[in-house]
Amino acid sequence: MDLSKHAFFEGKIVPLADAKVNIATHGFLYGTSVFGGMRSYWNEEKKRLFVFRPYDHFRRLLHSARMMAMQTHYDEESLIQLTLDLLRTDNWQQDIYMRPTFYKADMGIGVKLHDLKDEFCMFVMAYEPYVKNDTNAHVTISSWRRIDDNVIPARGKVAGAYANSALIKTDANRAGFDEALVLDNNGHISEGSAMNIFMLRDGILVTPPVTDNILEGITRKSIIELARNELGLTVMERSIDRTETFICEEMFMTGTAAQVIAVTKIDHRPVGAGLMGPITTKLRTMYENILRGKNSRYEPWNVVV
Ligand code: PMP
Repeated sequence: MDLSKHAFFEGKIVPLADAKVNIATHGFLYGTSVFGGMRSYWNEEKKRLFVFRPYDHFRRLLHSARMMAMQTHYDEESLIQLTLDLLRTDNWQQDIYMRPTFYKADMGIGVKLHDLKDEFCMFVMAYEPYVKNDTNAHVTISSWRRIDDNVIPARGKVAGAYANSALIKTDANRAGFDEALVLDNNGHISEGSAMNIFMLRDGILVTPPVTDNILEGITRKSIIELARNELGLTVMERSIDRTETFICEEMFMTGTAAQVIAVTKIDHRPVGAGLMGPITTKLRTMYENILRGKNSRYEPWNVVV
């Protein structure tokens, strides 16, 4: 992995090698940290780096921190500013992934959230493709269930909850699948291991509502806007049954790391014609152009470094 030379740690930019937490740190012992996954894209023609929707990412991160009873003096603006400072320090000129984290920083044993010190840190890495078969993914229905809002909030990006995602992903990969669809405790499709899900059924774009134990994805939100405004599609946020996925016309998954991944097979059944569909293709292209700052209508989504 090509990691950044510098990180933001305990209030300042330091060499990455110096950004270390002790093994007795609460966030490490109990998974009591919350994180974001953000990306910046290099535009070769303009020779500029574009950070995608940092305000939305930091807003969600601050909401995750709130759910875990964390206190911070940072707001969206100050987090964006320190991100720009960090990116300029290492002078990145390629696609990158950024990992901001709030964590319970006290040392010692004690299962609780209150009366603990909270810290913020962030590092950066060069981007590596997330799912190999992103135009023809074969997914399975996971035997694992998605974490529930009354267990660990799925709408918060809580580090400890990613044990659930890891179990889902490893079992899917070891069984020969690219990804998995995960049912929530009510038996509805929630999302993938770390991606939101969309299906096109009878020409309507359908995605699970935020109350079906999904992470409220920023790619999901962007795709909903693009589908409505650019393609004139009806987008419905409603629960999805397992067998609907067998009879839909198209399916794709969305996420910051993964972008838009076409799902063309579910448990050996072809989705629609078994090829990446026209709506998925259009949305993928549109989204990719916006990320690289090539669509002036969506310029406000990007912050230039
Ligand atoms: N669901 C989960 C569980 C995730 O970890 C992610 C990745 N952050 C997503 C969905 C997609 O969210 P986003 O589009 O904001 O990256």
